[in-house]
Amino acid sequence: MKKLNQVYEGKAKKVFETDDPDLFIQEFKDDATAFNAKKKGTIVGKGVVNNKISSVLFQMLEKEGIPTHFVKLLSEREMLVKKVKIVPLEVTIRNITAGGMAKLLGIEEGIRLKTPVYELHYKADHLDDPLINEDHALAINMATQEELDTIKKLAIKINQLLKNFFEKLNIDLVDFKLEFGRCKGKIILADEISPDTCRFWEKGTGRKLDKDRFRRDLGNVEDAYQEMLAKVVETSK
Ligand code: 5GP
Repeated sequence: MKKLNQVYEGKAKKVFETDDPDLFIQEFKDDATAFNAKKKGTIVGKGVVNNKISSVLFQMLEKEGIPTHFVKLLSEREMLVKKVKIVPLEVTIRNITAGGMAKLLGIEEGIRLKTPVYELHYKADHLDDPLINEDHALAINMATQEELDTIKKLAIKINQLLKNFFEKLNIDLVDFKLEFGRCKGKIILADEISPDTCRFWEKGTGRKLDKDRFRRDLGNVEDAYQEMLAKVVETSK
C-alpha cells in the first residue's frame, strides 16, 4: 500500500491518500489539544496507544456487527481505513455525569445516569462544537433522517458493546464521542475510539485514565495512556 498525498491534518491525526482510491491511511500524532486548541501540548507515545486501542475496539465492534472504517493496522502509528466523507456531527453518549453535561446542567460529576444520554454536537471548532438536536441537523442538511436514525441506533449499540468490554477491565465507561462517515452510500463508524475520545474511570477508586489528566493537569498523563493500552491489549488476546 503506497502512502500518497496528505489530504487532511487535524489536531490528533493526519490522513493520507493511497494508491487505492477507496482507502486512506490515518496516522496518529502525539500532539494533544484541549478546550478547542486553547491548551496545547504533547503526550509522548499517545499516537501509538490510540492507534492500537482504536484498532482493537474497531475489530471487536466489527465482530459484533457494527460497520466501521477500519481495514487493518499498518504500523505503530498508521491504520488503513475506508475512505469516508465525515458527517459533521460529534455524537456523544454518556453513562455517568462529567464534563460538558455536568457543566450544562449544573450538576456534580460522577452521578450514574438512569438511562444513557445521547447527544449531537455540531462539529465546528469556531463555535466550540455546540450541542444541537436532530431538527438542527436535518434543517441545515447535515444528515438525512434515515442517516440520523442509523447513527443513533449504532451509537446506542456501540455504547452497550463498549460498556461490556470495559466492564471486564474494571473500568467505568463514563462517556465518549464518536464520528460517523458516509462510505458508498452507507453510514459507518469512523475516526477513533481512544483515551482521547472517551472518559475512563477505574472502578472503585474513580482514578481517571484518559485525556482529562491532560485537560485538568492531573499529572501522570503518559502513564495513564500506557495503562489503558496494556489493559486493552491484555483482554483482546
Ligand atoms: P464533553 O462534552 O463532556 O466535553 O465530552 C464528552 C466526551 O466526548 C468525553 O469523553 C470527551 O473526551 C469526548 N469529546 C467530546 N468532544 C470532543 C472533541 O472535540 N475531541 C475529543 N478528543 N473528544 C471529545
